[in-house]
Amino acid sequence: MKRFFVIVLVSLSGTLLFIANEQGFDLEAILVIVSAITLVLAFVLEKKMPFRTAWNNNTGDLKTDLSSAVTLVILVEPVIKILLPLLIITAYQNVNAEYSESSLPFFVQVLFVTFLVEFGKYWSHRLHHLQPSLWWLHAMHHSSERLYFINNLRFHPLNYLINSIIGIAPAMLLGFSANSILGYLILTQPLVLMQHANIDFKSGWANYIFSTNEAHRWHHSIISSEANRNYGNALLIWDHVFGTFKAPDGFTQEKRVGLFSSSSCYPANSSYWQQIKSMFVPPC
Ligand SMILES: [Zn+2]
Repeated sequence: MKRFFVIVLVSLSGTLLFIANEQGFDLEAILVIVSAITLVLAFVLEKKMPFRTAWNNNTGDLKTDLSSAVTLVILVEPVIKILLPLLIITAYQNVNAEYSESSLPFFVQVLFVTFLVEFGKYWSHRLHHLQPSLWWLHAMHHSSERLYFINNLRFHPLNYLINSIIGIAPAMLLGFSANSILGYLILTQPLVLMQHANIDFKSGWANYIFSTNEAHRWHHSIISSEANRNYGNALLIWDHVFGTFKAPDGFTQEKRVGLFSSSSCYPANSSYWQQIKSMFVPPC
């Protein structure tokens, strides 16, 4: 199970998307259901086969992580759903062009959307590491000193908003359908939601393609040269292309995750609200 879980997960996502598209199901509803099931599954598997037992213990950070998750789902996601179409309409109006939706077959659109969104999210993520003002937002995500199932929803709202715009807007501008974007999300969301889970998967060759737990742990290392790697959202293709891929092996039990020493003045252990407000404090 440890070896094939990621492949099975991706295969199940693909099969579900195929059936949902054939049957004309509401893809947005499918995405919500799939995300909820994945989070429950991640929580259960963390108890059964943890990578590091201590990471299952609440160190006072659960309240921050839950506050972030609720804020993103209840407040930020609805804003994104309104903001993105408005941006596209405004862009078309500014150049006096008429919007037309792509006539490509559904799964061809999903393929293009996958490469585009992964490209946008790769660069958004990388810029959040390279630009000090953006790093100050992204530090919230890296400030957790353990990796577990809900970390994936620990993001500063502005960081989350910027990622979504840079990731999804280009695909919308090019006319790819809303359903093809939902198709990409159904394919990748289970993998992305599992990525931070404290589960001892051994994914082998799949670690070189997908942004798995093993590959992504390096991204949370407290050593910046190790953490400025594996930026990919669900796939690591753009890390291979731009030379930031780091092989998953060697993340031993002794290695720590969290902020780099150069960011030690970030209020990592303060409340969620204090961390949100820290964007107004000049970076250290
Ligand atoms: Zn990062």
